[in-house]
Amino acid sequence: MPEPTPLADDHPMMSRLPALAVACPTCGSEPNILCASHSGTRPRFHDVHQARTAAHQEQTR
Ligand SMILES: [Zn+2]
Repeated sequence: MPEPTPLADDHPMMSRLPALAVACPTCGSEPNILCASHSGTRPRFHDVHQARTAAHQEQTR
């Protein structure tokens, strides 16, 4: 599997999906890296896992 490329901090996805700033507890994606689908082969371009959104809210509260 190819290494995922981290997004730049000013990448449009970062402002659209602020939860990308934290690691995802569900799929294990590092910060600035898109969530992967369950098979781990396809990045999720349109959303992130709910647990990641929750984790981000915990951190920014
Ligand atoms: Zn995820």
